[in-house]
Amino acid sequence: MTTPSKLALVPFVSVDHMMQLVHSIGIQQMLRDLAAYIEADFKRWELFDKTPRVASHSAEGVIELMPTSDGEVYGFKYVNGHPKNTKEGLQTVTAFGLLANVGNGYPVLLSEMTLLTGLRTAAASALVGRYLAPKGATTMAMIGNGAQSEFQCMAFQAICGVDTVRLFDIDAAAREKCARNLAGSGLTVVKCTTPEEAIMGAQIITTCTADKQYATILTDNMVGSGVHINAIGGDCPGKTELHRDILLRSDIFVEFPEQTRIEGEIQQLDPDHPVTELWQVMTGAAKGRTDARQITLFDSVGFAVEDFSALRYVRDKIKGTAFYSDLDMLADPDDPRDLFGMLLRAG
Ligand code: NAD
Repeated sequence: MTTPSKLALVPFVSVDHMMQLVHSIGIQQMLRDLAAYIEADFKRWELFDKTPRVASHSAEGVIELMPTSDGEVYGFKYVNGHPKNTKEGLQTVTAFGLLANVGNGYPVLLSEMTLLTGLRTAAASALVGRYLAPKGATTMAMIGNGAQSEFQCMAFQAICGVDTVRLFDIDAAAREKCARNLAGSGLTVVKCTTPEEAIMGAQIITTCTADKQYATILTDNMVGSGVHINAIGGDCPGKTELHRDILLRSDIFVEFPEQTRIEGEIQQLDPDHPVTELWQVMTGAAKGRTDARQITLFDSVGFAVEDFSALRYVRDKIKGTAFYSDLDMLADPDDPRDLFGMLLRAG
């Protein structure tokens, strides 16, 4: 047996450790921190290596790899999306991710990212909401009350000052679960039986459903002027949530156009339909909301830089804590060229 050197041991954050980390920080504080990390990385957008994620589609779902690098640190996330999974007791979305040192290629963090994706997606949504939602927005419709939904509600509370959420799901059990989980959050929770009821009086509409088709969660006549739509669930070719006519009335904001045109709501539009890149809104190079009657739409698909920010945050936060274990993941022979000798000696 050889003892691996410190560099060969990779800090690993399990699901259990992630839950302990979140509770030690506080859910709302962590959502605010993640939003700050994402914003900081969006403001240095041009530094990043960017590519649409690599997707492997099947009849049931998709498996994706999401890589990026800022020149010093490389990161990727593995994530799946299988809307039929919940019927089998499995989750629609699971994920894990890794950071590595660009200088020597050695991984520096391996982490669960199913919880972290819920947190980072919500933090990104609310961060964008802070730039685009109408001033003084306090009520959000939350359509789709599955795994992501509570994270979304709490992020809009923590970051945008939302105090009321109006829940709707085609499955009443999901709505009840969401309402139960939000009971101690300080949010006023209104349970609705139709999507029309859910959007009544809401200045922000979040759609977060899972269905592998061109769905119409919102039709054109449901959406009045002056709202912000946070569209989360349309994130794959052939998987959208909004009627095309809503898109034609909206000012559309995206993470990385090259990926969103393949996966987002805008796959329904001409390939040259104008969109605004969010990093430019955050740096001040482009305008966000310019008037109270405008419909702003965040056509969210989830981009690698957001996962990079989330992993960077976890790496910073676990230092000096017990919220990780060291993983013997990299072979570490005493003589770097004697990999085979190390194997022989182990026999
Ligand atoms: P989930 O399966 O746990 O929940 C989805 C919910 O949507 C279910 O409760 C289902 O009953 C409900 N639903 C389906 N059709 C509906 C309809 N027509 N009206 C109302 N409710 C409906 O999934 P999840 O983990 O919460 O993810 C939700 C969606 O968000 C998925 O499509 C996923 O791919 C996507 N997602 C996007 C990002 C991003 O960054 N944009 C990140 C994570 C997940």
